[in-house]
Amino acid sequence: AAYTYLRHALAVLGLDLCFPILKLGVTYPLDPKLIGEFADGLTDLIVIEERRPFLEEQITSLLNRARQEGEAFGSVNVWGKQFPHGLDGIPESRGLNPSKLVERLGRLFLKLPELRGTIDATKVEMELKLLEEVESAEVTVIDRTPTFCPGCPHRDSASVLMEVKKQFASADYMARVHGQSAVDLVFHGDTGCYTMLMFEPTKDLMHNYSGMGLGGGTGAGIDPFIRNKQVVFMGDSTFFHSGSAAISNSLKNGQDITYVILDNKTTAMTGHQETPGTETNLLGDHTFSQNIEAIVAAMTQSSDTGATVVQVNPEDRESYRALLEKTILQDGVKIVLADKECGITYHRRAASAERKREREDGFLAEKEFINITPEVCENCLECTKATGCPGLTLEQTPYGQKVQIDKTWCVNDGACTRSLVAPDPAGPQVKACPSFGEVRVTRTQAPLAAIDRLDFIGLPDPSVEKAGGVWHGYLAGVGGMGIGTATAILVRAGHREGYSVKFCDKKGLAIRNGGVYSMVTYAGSEAAYASNVIPYGHANLILGIDLLEAARAIDPATNQRVGSRRHTAVIANTHLTPTIKTLLGQTATDPAQLETDLRRHTRAGHYHGIDVSAITDRIFGNQRYVNTVMLGVAFQLGRLPLRLTSIEWAIEASLGGTAKENLRAFQLGRLLVHDRAAVLAAARLQEEPSDYADVLRDKEAILNQTPGRGPKMGEAYRHMLERASEHLQVEGPVLADFARRVYDLIQFEDVDYAQKYIRQVLELHELDSAGENYRATRALIWNLHRVMAIKDEVYVAHLLTSEEKHRRDRARYDVDPERGDEIHYRHLNRPEFNILGVRVAWNMKTRDWMLRLMRRQRWLRRALPQWHAKEKDFCDWYRQTAQEAAFYLNQPGAYERVVQLLELPEPVTGYREVRYPKMAAAQATAEGLMTDLHETNAPNKSGKPTR
Ligand code: SF4
Ligand code: SF4
Repeated sequence: AAYTYLRHALAVLGLDLCFPILKLGVTYPLDPKLIGEFADGLTDLIVIEERRPFLEEQITSLLNRARQEGEAFGSVNVWGKQFPHGLDGIPESRGLNPSKLVERLGRLFLKLPELRGTIDATKVEMELKLLEEVESAEVTVIDRTPTFCPGCPHRDSASVLMEVKKQFASADYMARVHGQSAVDLVFHGDTGCYTMLMFEPTKDLMHNYSGMGLGGGTGAGIDPFIRNKQVVFMGDSTFFHSGSAAISNSLKNGQDITYVILDNKTTAMTGHQETPGTETNLLGDHTFSQNIEAIVAAMTQSSDTGATVVQVNPEDRESYRALLEKTILQDGVKIVLADKECGITYHRRAASAERKREREDGFLAEKEFINITPEVCENCLECTKATGCPGLTLEQTPYGQKVQIDKTWCVNDGACTRSLVAPDPAGPQVKACPSFGEVRVTRTQAPLAAIDRLDFIGLPDPSVEKAGGVWHGYLAGVGGMGIGTATAILVRAGHREGYSVKFCDKKGLAIRNGGVYSMVTYAGSEAAYASNVIPYGHANLILGIDLLEAARAIDPATNQRVGSRRHTAVIANTHLTPTIKTLLGQTATDPAQLETDLRRHTRAGHYHGIDVSAITDRIFGNQRYVNTVMLGVAFQLGRLPLRLTSIEWAIEASLGGTAKENLRAFQLGRLLVHDRAAVLAAARLQEEPSDYADVLRDKEAILNQTPGRGPKMGEAYRHMLERASEHLQVEGPVLADFARRVYDLIQFEDVDYAQKYIRQVLELHELDSAGENYRATRALIWNLHRVMAIKDEVYVAHLLTSEEKHRRDRARYDVDPERGDEIHYRHLNRPEFNILGVRVAWNMKTRDWMLRLMRRQRWLRRALPQWHAKEKDFCDWYRQTAQEAAFYLNQPGAYERVVQLLELPEPVTGYREVRYPKMAAAQATAEGLMTDLHETNAPNKSGKPTR
């Protein structure tokens, strides 16, 4: 690599083939004769090598010896890790690339008097300037840490063990359930898919990382010094590779350790090769399978292993947890065989069977999904914390951020629906929330494909210039988005065009939610030398299939900083796949800011951003073809130096059975540039009404449909809002928020209840200030609604069967009742009632008809005063606090604190056990804020503004 990087760097500096270069094929031992011949006649010799000065030291020693023996060439100066004139030499760490050499050699060449006049100093200076510009780019790009694949059985184990770890650390829990004191578990990790444990949200399950199969060894090393129970994760491949040695050692030394071995009968980490546990060998020939249990038995020379060996399907969460708790607490070596197929092989097989059915029948008569109802979701993030599953995503709604299922990534295994929440480890384990449901879509005929509504005939060919010199394309996305496939298409198409093509396909942690990028270089007939790595700032195109990963291409902290104002056009899918840390609420990024940064640091007027994911999802029902749609966009914009015939041929050559769909996706991308309006119309992106008048009209129409009292309620709603809006001086979007919330409270209880909300908002608004942009009013509009619309079983039943939900789901799953499509729900509820002080709770799957009955039982709120009593108390407390706080609004310096007070319910999210501690925290914070207000201000009891 050092040779190609050097040639590339010299070419960038306009100096390719200007210096003699010796490329070594053997690095040890060096041939003294060869080195001598090369050094003969030179004054200075620079050794370019990655990492430590291995060659440099050998060459220096050979030349020294030659000098002592009187050879003239022995006195050549040898440079490498240090350069003359005190300049930094070739870095010893973190590898090389062309840019690092451009920077170091460029500075050196400008300093050397003997080169003055022989090199193009202006070109060298320009390149150094480009590096400085790229280095100074300001962009905030968050990490994207990897995680287990959706459907991975390790996720089942990890999710349960996270709970077990928390509970074992609780003295109360341990005394109550196991009759002993708390236990602090120590987890060791090594190499395999389960290395993902070292990242969020499971990092507490991997306290150290060692080589493959060495987790047990680490445990053995510390065993004499600790009394903790120890746990080691392992895969079956690792067991056969070296893990069995660790277990043998543990048995021999009487260690107290539990090995959790995932027996998925494949080597998933490296591409699903056979293991000794499978019945075929690498060539596919039948062979005998080795049995982990029998091997462990043999280690103790008896069928009674002396170790506890248990086998269980980790998906069966409750029995798995019980078994783990019991097994870990036993003394000695214990082996838990978690027996479940790798998610990738299982779901690949299922997807292929599904595609076959679709091909044969022309459509899928039935398909199931896991679904989250955003109105019911509280954004507490308990589900993401429990699973860390990338099948979950985040979406913005008029009620703020909500968790949603990403249909493209979710494999529908239901793991998130089974996760439990125990904020107090000693308290009850409960299902996270009632937002989850199972959706089954049935059809009697093929849906009308949105793509068929589009006309691709007459798409004009863009003006495309063939690259005479070097053209660099950079593709960035998240594992699973098809960066490798898009790269293969560009590579094949480039070859067909006659370019010399080089590429660097960095898969990274492709299948584990990691960032992925690739670099493609075309060299035309007049091109100078180029390696397969794009020098910093030299990309002609950044094709960002994910916005965050596209922005990483201008981040000076990475070695992928290929974007610059001088060279780079950007085409970005503005969809952003949330990182795991974002799903956990630990990091956040603003897509609009990323777009601004990309615009700012690349060629002016050459940025093109569009939410291709949303469009592809609507047109094809998933985001599988987003990569080829993006290629179509890039082609039509004239950013790919390829002819249409070449790229279409490359799609067919690269994609076999799915080429037809991908060619349509490519056309779709082209049309998106040529006639975006037509594509958007065909996509029928479902949009909820957003401005005040539309919200009012929409909600009134829905209320009008309520059996019996509908029209009356609709009319009352309109009157209430019309009257209130005469007084509310807030901006349009806030007024629309207000209208939605008044509607919600009518649905929650009745018109009178909504009227109470309106009254309190208007009272505060009268004291609020235009100079503060009525932020206090906005805070009350949002938060008073949060506390008044208590998500009890009755209201949740309403939300799960509402018109808004059904119309959104019809769009989401492309359900057209007129064509015989049906959508069936099974809601995963956990109703809880307090009847005469007795708590009654159970898990159940409810149907829509049951919930429709339940949503009418508002009387229960009065009949069962203890039911959701804490939520009701919190509501009363907030209403009173907000009223009191309002009187301070116009006191000098008090405004911020009042807004803080009014916003306190915002982080109070989740249901019951999750919610209660947050309510207490909000009340404690309020106490402090109120005391501050009391001490520093006198309330304006008159209700009249004092300024
Ligand atoms: S309420 Fe919490 S647990 Fe339920 S879907 Fe929303 S974020 Fe997940
Ligand atoms: S069902 Fe839930 S846990 Fe399973 S893949 Fe989908 S989002 Fe992930």
